[in-house]
Amino acid sequence: MEIRLHGRGGQGGVTCAKILAAAYARLGRHVQTFGDYAGERSGAPVRAYTRVDDQPITNRNKVYRPDHVIVLDRHLLGRDVLDGLASGGILLINSGEEFGAFDAGLETYRVGLVDATKIARRHGIGTRSVVIVNTTIAGAFAKLDGIPLDVLEETYRKLGFSGNFAAAREAYESVRERPARFEPRERGAAPQTTRAAPVQALDEHFESPPTGLKTGAWSTQRPRYIEALAPCNAWCPAGNDVVGFVQALARDDLDGAARVLRSSTPLPGVCGRVCPAPCMEGCNRAEYDGAVDIRGLERWIADHNPAVALDHPALETPLRVAIVGGGPAGLAAAYTLSAAGHTAVIFERERELGGLLLTGIPNYRLPRQVLHREVASLLARGVEVRCGEVLTAQRLRDLEREYDALILATGLQKVQSLVVEGSNLRGVEDGLGFLRRVNLHGAVRLHGHVVVLGGGNSAMDCARAALRCGAERVTVAYRRTRAEMPAIPEEIEAAELEGVRLLALRAPVGFAGGERLTAVRLAEVDLGEPDATGRRRPIVSERTSELPCDFALLALGQSADRALLPADWELCDGHVRREGQSLRVFAAGDFATGDGTVAHAVGSGRRAAGRVMRAFDVDARVFERPQRELAVASSEIRFDHYERAERALERCAPLPTRTRGFDEVNLGLDSSREARRCFSCGHCTRCDTCLVYCPEGVVRRTDHGYELDTTFCKGCGICVHECPRKGMEMTTL
Ligand code: SF4
Ligand code: SF4
Ligand code: SF4
Repeated sequence: MEIRLHGRGGQGGVTCAKILAAAYARLGRHVQTFGDYAGERSGAPVRAYTRVDDQPITNRNKVYRPDHVIVLDRHLLGRDVLDGLASGGILLINSGEEFGAFDAGLETYRVGLVDATKIARRHGIGTRSVVIVNTTIAGAFAKLDGIPLDVLEETYRKLGFSGNFAAAREAYESVRERPARFEPRERGAAPQTTRAAPVQALDEHFESPPTGLKTGAWSTQRPRYIEALAPCNAWCPAGNDVVGFVQALARDDLDGAARVLRSSTPLPGVCGRVCPAPCMEGCNRAEYDGAVDIRGLERWIADHNPAVALDHPALETPLRVAIVGGGPAGLAAAYTLSAAGHTAVIFERERELGGLLLTGIPNYRLPRQVLHREVASLLARGVEVRCGEVLTAQRLRDLEREYDALILATGLQKVQSLVVEGSNLRGVEDGLGFLRRVNLHGAVRLHGHVVVLGGGNSAMDCARAALRCGAERVTVAYRRTRAEMPAIPEEIEAAELEGVRLLALRAPVGFAGGERLTAVRLAEVDLGEPDATGRRRPIVSERTSELPCDFALLALGQSADRALLPADWELCDGHVRREGQSLRVFAAGDFATGDGTVAHAVGSGRRAAGRVMRAFDVDARVFERPQRELAVASSEIRFDHYERAERALERCAPLPTRTRGFDEVNLGLDSSREARRCFSCGHCTRCDTCLVYCPEGVVRRTDHGYELDTTFCKGCGICVHECPRKGMEMTTL
């Protein structure tokens, strides 16, 4: 049952609505009540609403089709007061006049008349000049709708209005009623309160008409629609429009999602598998019930829409850009240039493109066909490739002369070695060399106990690959604690699940054996003060022990090999200079930054391509990492507008069979439903919440979004406050 009250500022209409709600609550009903103000001034039209139901009330919009209407000032009677009032509903008017004084349009209602103003004045409610009729007229309505007097009295007592109850009782006893002419109700029929009328559904609601009082000139603030930075976008090093592709998926628009994603990255299937997903660390949903599985959704798009066609312009004089290195940074640079209509030529020393993705990441994590598919789609855009060429410093000079620009994306070529006693023994091998053999040639056989030295992703790849190559036991020894391992946490967990043992706070200080390795000598490590990375500095102690083993794989890290640059080239902030002059030579990926993830490499490749274009005054936006501190904070998300929902789990190959071969372990999500968990931080989803909550009816839906009629806006900010996702903000006038 819905009741709408029409009064003026100062008559206490909102309190009257609350009294009625409290009385129905005493009768065991669920209730809701709120006011709808025009301007906070005496005499301005005010509406208030009370809902009563046998069920909890979730509808929060205003009452448009009231069952009953109460009019505190009879001069307000007009079309908008009667608007939507159900036939047979109560129309209670504060008036001392006779029924005949009201015109013919009211015959379909149960009209009630009570001179609440006179009664309230007699009881001294309000001041001499301003009589407050709310507590009085509530008594009259209680009578008409069958609320027992004792319930009303108790309600007044609880609310602290006992002093006004005598007036309410007088109104209760003196209210006059004229039955509806067309829908007569028998006296003594069940009171209205027993009826649980269905309330209007939230989504029926498209427009909320203004109250009719212009308020815009009084307000000092106004709302406006905005697009704010979503944290996932800010945290993605590749610069993917995460909220864009996740929201497209949430709308079941797979093609649209693929277009958004492929506008920034050539490697969604790769990143959707091997990226450490900093976007998920930044995701606002993490604080509520778990981050959205953005990486899984990225993979879903890549696997289910692998070849979306993107237009690229045909330029009359495209740039020709040489890119040295066919890893993720080089591929992303080529992709960005070709999307802008330029010619990219990739020089790669291996026989295939992919860089570390090809040689360093095993198939069980990144199936070759996924990489091949994404490389093939890049080549289909006209990117040229020269594989199998090892470039010297002189060749780089030639390329710099022959091409309009040169991008260096050679990755981390220098492997950190370990010069200790026994490091030349048979059985001691560089981990990346081992992975390269596994990934390019397969059929590597190991046996017995394998010790992997290191704590990064390469160490985890070595350990899990070693199990698949026949090792009976694998131990990873790392000089810090497990929590400080740089490997992706899921990779560490997966390794442990497969049986890899982690040995923390151990540093290799030698290898023992005759011709072949028989043990690795490990020193215990103590942790000192934090170093520049913020992690506690490892201090290698004198306490050593031998760990018997058959193989040791060194995965201690890599660095950029700057020695391949010509002697007079100097790398400075991503640019190369010669004798103080900037060359059109740019660095990208790990070679420039050493960040070490595929997503960073993609972002860096895009940035280098943008810098090339800008160097030639080509109108191109250079992708720069957004500032994380500008992103929508979790405190700006209205969690209470969202239902809790568990994060979808990715499917995995059964544990016992995983280590029997190199088949992919993570099989991905089984649907794109996970996208619906996204809050769409900072991006309006046209959910209508602002429209529903605005008490002034200022918000109007249009074909493209919403319009605000600010002549009726009083600047209360309720729309902004209630927006679940920061799609609006207040601006000062
Ligand atoms: S590339 Fe990585 S950080 Fe970016 S959206 Fe994909 S998973 Fe997230
Ligand atoms: S909830 Fe959605 S928009 Fe917000 S950070 Fe997470 S993925 Fe991005
Ligand atoms: S409340 Fe909904 S419709 Fe309004 S701005 Fe926010 S997201 Fe958009």
